[in-house]
Amino acid sequence: MRRTLCALLLVPLVAQAQQPVRGFPSDALAELARREAVLRRTPDTARLRAAMRAMAADPHHAGFPGSRRVAEWALRQFRSWGLEARLDTFQALMPVPVERRVEMVAPTAFTARLAEPALAEDPDSRDEGQLPTYNAYSPDGDVTGELVYVNYGVPEDYAALARLGVDVRGRVVIARYGRSWRGIKPKVAAEHGAVACIIYSDPRDDGYFVGDVYPWGPMRPELGAQRGSVMDMPTYPGDPLTPGWGNRPGARMLPRDSAATIEPIPVLPIGYGDALPLLRALGGPVVPGDDWKGALPITYHVGPGPARVRVALRFDWQVRPLYNVVARIPGATFPDQWVLYGNHHDAWVNGAEDPVSGAATVLEAARGFAELVRGGWRPQRTIQFALWDGEEWGLLGSTEYAEANADALRTNAVIYFNSDTNGRGPMGASGSHTLETFVREVARDLDDPGGRANALEAITAFAVSRARTSQDSARARTRPFRIGALGSGSDYTAFIDHLGVASLDIRHGGASDDGIYHSIYDSYTHYTRFNDTSFVYGRAQAAAMGTAVLRMADAPVLPFSFSDAAATYRRYAAEIDTLARRTLADTLDMAHLTSALDALAAAGARFDSALARATSQGSAWVTRNQRALGTINRLIYQSERDLMHPLGLPRRPWYRHAIYAPGFYTGYGVKTMPGIREAVEQQNFAEARSQLSVVAATIGLLAARADRVASSLAELR
Ligand SMILES: [Zn+2]
Repeated sequence: MRRTLCALLLVPLVAQAQQPVRGFPSDALAELARREAVLRRTPDTARLRAAMRAMAADPHHAGFPGSRRVAEWALRQFRSWGLEARLDTFQALMPVPVERRVEMVAPTAFTARLAEPALAEDPDSRDEGQLPTYNAYSPDGDVTGELVYVNYGVPEDYAALARLGVDVRGRVVIARYGRSWRGIKPKVAAEHGAVACIIYSDPRDDGYFVGDVYPWGPMRPELGAQRGSVMDMPTYPGDPLTPGWGNRPGARMLPRDSAATIEPIPVLPIGYGDALPLLRALGGPVVPGDDWKGALPITYHVGPGPARVRVALRFDWQVRPLYNVVARIPGATFPDQWVLYGNHHDAWVNGAEDPVSGAATVLEAARGFAELVRGGWRPQRTIQFALWDGEEWGLLGSTEYAEANADALRTNAVIYFNSDTNGRGPMGASGSHTLETFVREVARDLDDPGGRANALEAITAFAVSRARTSQDSARARTRPFRIGALGSGSDYTAFIDHLGVASLDIRHGGASDDGIYHSIYDSYTHYTRFNDTSFVYGRAQAAAMGTAVLRMADAPVLPFSFSDAAATYRRYAAEIDTLARRTLADTLDMAHLTSALDALAAAGARFDSALARATSQGSAWVTRNQRALGTINRLIYQSERDLMHPLGLPRRPWYRHAIYAPGFYTGYGVKTMPGIREAVEQQNFAEARSQLSVVAATIGLLAARADRVASSLAELR
């Protein structure tokens, strides 16, 4: 009761500060501001803390009872606020180890411990039921070979080894974490003929070289090891046995030996305490540059040998259950236009930072919407919250959901908002470039916990503070706000890359370093000592998402911008042109692509002016044209579908987006206009040319749609 009174008193102040919001007429802004004020005021730091305590209390890896417990707990939260919510169950192949062994057999004997010790300072580190340190989707194997150090294990590292005359065929490689997604390391090692891959965390990257190690500081202690999936996600994410269709209980599954995303060679992560004896026993040439040197107290040699190492791994290869939690607020006017917002709930161990820091903010944002609903509000469009299971293994829960509901999502999904780990630092955003103005306006209207005028200014101030030179600093000060492009590594992947649903990943962070990723030390104690200690960035995240979701759900005209997209795609085209001139013998004729981009820019400008004229006519215009706007908005949000490559990317048809994909050899890292760019990088001229015409055609479709939208909007009176 007191809360409601308070809201009424705040209203006039908030409403006055409102600036134009794309897609809303100006006479609707006061009402919008009143609702946004509820969404920004409701998220509560004490509740975020309590949610983290509850969800990160025990290990809760997917496929096991701990994950189901967390899902059921979240389900009860949604329901306790009066929201309609349910568990949505899938299943997937989710192997856990039954044997793990890394031992040096020559020149001396050493058996790696492969265990993270509990710490007296962190009670959660003693919890029962922790998953052992391992990489999911390594195959079984028992191999012995001479050891070779391959630095980060990316393709250029093997080129450097070749220049030294070092061959990894028949050998065991040891790579350090970093520079690529972890699944790339065994894949590239196998391509070069290695028989096993050990991945370790070098103290230079996230250990004592960076700062004090846990429990004294936030960095990785010597036996802390990074668990994680090595599924070949750049080929397809989700259940390896059901590529392209959802694995509900009873679904058809591929036999395991024809699943393309299980790694070809055994792979296991270790801490630097276990890596040091192995690396110390390497002879052969000294590493070929400073870039190869870690921070262990040795001279780094590449080998091969004399160290000989045995890697023996066996897994149980079980199909296990997944419990997504889904909550909905049905739309009052356009129930079949869906605004989706999700974060995963499963962790490798307790996962206070990854994912609970983000999952808790979804709950707090949802509670804000529940407050609005209690006050009699209904969104124009349907809002759906999701807490996904099995993200850590390979985006399992979100991918199976997206594949199972593919047709409905293609028709109805307006946007997918994603978050994941959240922490201290400014807001960051990556996603569809039709949404750049939209994100900028959201950031402009949000408070900054760091005391800047708003979140947009905080982003600039942070970039300036991180600049190393005065030139960089000047550039950071004047650079307009930009959103990044999406690669992979979180649950947006199936939505944007497979279905063509416009997506935005928004999270706070970047101001604190840590070295506890995917270890038993990612705990409540660690998070509350070293990260967002007072949960103010969690509150800011919930407020940002609440604002973004509300605007998408209620905008009379959806706030997409084709001009934004044209400007960014033009940059990508220019980068590829430069790369092609440097790399290819023949010149790549960019004329088709350039004219498609010109058409998109022109149509985007027409749409912008039609939108400005429309929204200047006020809410009466919206009411008058509601039916027509339903159709126009559908045309607008389905625009991302135009960018889908009809056949998918070369050699990985699951990935269909012509503008964004995770790199085939970088994993998480994005490749923009991936079909062309990767063909140019591989110096495949014929493929680059055919991919160029595909990209030009998809952008041509988008331009034609933008033109149609502009005309339809301009016709409304
Ligand atoms: Zn995560």
